[in-house]
This record gives sequence, structure tokens and C-alpha cells, in this order.
Amino acid sequence: MNPAKPTPRLRIQLFPRAESAVRSGHPWVFADSVKGQNREGTAGELAVMYDRKDRFLAVGLYDPASPIRVRILHCGKPATIDRTWWLDKTRAALASRDGTVLNERTDGARCINGESEGFPGLVADLYSGTLVVKLYSASWLAHWEIVEDVLREVFSPEHLVLRMSRNVMTEAGSKWDLREGYRGEPGDDIVVFRENGIRFESAVLRGQKTGFFLDQRDNRARVEALAGGRSVLNVFSFSGGFSLYAARGGASRVTDLDISAHALESAARNFKLNADEPRIAVVPHEAVQADAFAWIEEAPADRSYDLIVVDPPSLAKRERERDGAIRAYHRLNAKAIERLRPGGILVAASCSAHVPAVDFIGLVRELARKSGRKWSEQWTSAHAADHPASFPEAEYLKAICLKID
Ligand code: SAH
Repeated sequence: MNPAKPTPRLRIQLFPRAESAVRSGHPWVFADSVKGQNREGTAGELAVMYDRKDRFLAVGLYDPASPIRVRILHCGKPATIDRTWWLDKTRAALASRDGTVLNERTDGARCINGESEGFPGLVADLYSGTLVVKLYSASWLAHWEIVEDVLREVFSPEHLVLRMSRNVMTEAGSKWDLREGYRGEPGDDIVVFRENGIRFESAVLRGQKTGFFLDQRDNRARVEALAGGRSVLNVFSFSGGFSLYAARGGASRVTDLDISAHALESAARNFKLNADEPRIAVVPHEAVQADAFAWIEEAPADRSYDLIVVDPPSLAKRERERDGAIRAYHRLNAKAIERLRPGGILVAASCSAHVPAVDFIGLVRELARKSGRKWSEQWTSAHAADHPASFPEAEYLKAICLKID
């Protein structure tokens, strides 16, 4: 009898330019960087790359359906990707947050930030006892049982919810019953957690991203420090993150502006959740449901404020959307500056991956110059400690704060 021949390892040969990029730590190999491979591969297979001298270069997750054909897991000396390897990476991710980002006042944070922490295409966000994992590549499905087991061991969550981007959902649908849009034995739809001592709800099963925008925690704290005595407008307020911090910082009143009734209702509930904090309990809080682009241009001129936060959703998810995004940032922030009272503060943020920080920061400074008013820069910021960025595409978040007389 002839025993079946074992399938050979999937070997990928790269064009030289891609080889250098991988060697210098870039985690993506695009389909057009693949010079050759020894056979077809399946989603999630471990693909091994060798350099031009046939030495081991890297190993990654193969994804035949994605333009990112391989997501690098490890580059350098040969390594075995097994349970121990995942466990070490996960423990390292927790260790870098435990006691710092996660502490007695904060029990919600990003715990694994994708490629920058060795999990390309996977993020894990913790909200109190609920760990929400989101997959952006179908290549994780083949490894999910081990990864879930490791996440449970390291984070000991009471509940674990698995969510997926749309393309992954299609693949996963043949493996699991995903009629509800997620997998897991979740607790409630809405989980309450604490960020710097402020309670927030996160819509862990159906909310945007994993239910909350954890990436703005440090900028919210900066706003709290500036808000004393100021009337605050929070444009694209979502669940009121910046508003609650501003209220605790002593704002004289807070206005949330968002197009979504759900978002505004969530913000109202978050104010109620924190009614034991005296400043949050007493601050006049108003909700405006409107298209921010139209409202900021058309609202009566007496709608002016001492502190305006402008934090829109991503306006350029693709390269070709960049110019339109820059025009939109221009319009929004120019109008925001017009609505600032003398001595007012603008906090402008961008989470558009295709608008580089230098362009965005430069644009806002330019608007301040053009306003003809005296102005000073308070700070600029990038990623929080729980959103480490190990390569340029991961550096999506930037913000700038100006005081304008
Ligand atoms: N600043 C928020 C996050 C903003 S998320 C925070 O700190 O948590 C983007 C928000 O913009 C969402 O709540 C979405 O409903 C809202 N939004 C999207 N398009 C909008 C528009 N045209 N006008 C007003 N709000 C909009």
C-alpha cells in the first residue's frame, strides 16, 4: 500500500522589494509581490517565505481571497507557530497594559491591536468582563479554536464575543451559524465598563467597531483638563465620550451633535450612568440630531462655543478618497473655528488611514492662520498606549488642539 504523500509546506517566493519590506518589519505581502509559490494554498495556511539565498525569511497567514495575500506572523529566525507561540504573544499584550492602561479606574481597553502585536487582522477589546474579538481576515478562521482557548486563558473573560468584517462573515457562514451576526455566548447586548473612572456603555454585539471608540481615551482626558467653565460642542459625538469628560472637567454646558438617534440616546444614558459624579449630574446637556456638515454651516451664528471637538468617522478608507476627505476636514474645521468664541479651543481629530498626520495637522494649522485670529497650539497627539502602531498604515489616528483668540 502506498501511504498518502504529505502535502508539502506552502512556500512563497517574493519579489526583492517585498522581501526588503518584510525584513524591515512590514506585516503585509500583497498578491502582486508574490513571485511564485510551490502550490495553491488555502485560507489560514501557514505560508513560509524564503529570501533570495533560500534562507528562512518569515512565516504568515495565507489568504487566497484577499489582496493582502500573506499577513506576517513572524520574521527573523525560524519559529514554530503553535499554541505556545500564541500564548506568549497574548501574555505580552496583557503585560503591556496590566496596571497601566488597565487599572482600578479603567477596565475597558484594546488588548490586542492587530499586526502591531503579532495578530495581523485581529483585534481584541475588553469591556469589563466581556472580550470582543473582531476578525478582518478569513485566515483566522482556521486557527480560531486555539486562539479562542489562548484568549480565554490569558484574559479570563466572563463572556467572549467573536465579530467579523463582512467579507470574513461570508466565509465563516459555512462553518458556523452566524444569523445573529456574531459567535459566542455573550451576556448582554450592552456592557457597562469604566474609562478613567467614567462609566460608558458599549454595544458589544452590534455597535460600530467593537461597540465603543477606545482609541480616543487619552484625547478625552486632555479635553477634560481644558473644559473648565467652557461651553462645549462635541461634533460627531457618538456615545458622548468627549462630552462626559468635558462635563467632569467642569464644562458650563455640553452639546452633542450626531446624525444618529441611537448614538445620542446612548450618550444620554451615559450621562445618567454617571449621575453620582456631581459635575456630570448638574451640567446642562443638549442633544442635536443633524448632519454635522450641514449644521455647522447653517446653524444660527449665535451657536458659538468655548470648546469644539470635531472627530468625524473615517472619511478616507481608500487612497482614492483622500482628496475628498481633505476637503471635508477643511470645511468642517474652518466652520468650527468660526463658531469658536474668543479664546476658544478647537480639538480636531482624524481617523482616516489615508490622510497622513502631517497633512491633517498642517491643514488645521493653515485654517488657524487663515482665520486672521491670534492662535496658539496646545498639543498634537497620535496613538494611545493600547493602540501601538508598528508600521505606517497602522498610524491612522491624529489630533491637534489649538487655542484661538
Ligand atoms: N467622537 C466619538 C467617535 C465618533 S464616531 C467618540 O469619541 O466616541 C463617528 C460618529 O459620527 C458616529 O456616531 C456617527 O453616527 C456620526 N456621523 C456619521 N456621519 C455623520 C454626519 N454626516 N453628521 C453627524 N454625525 C455623523
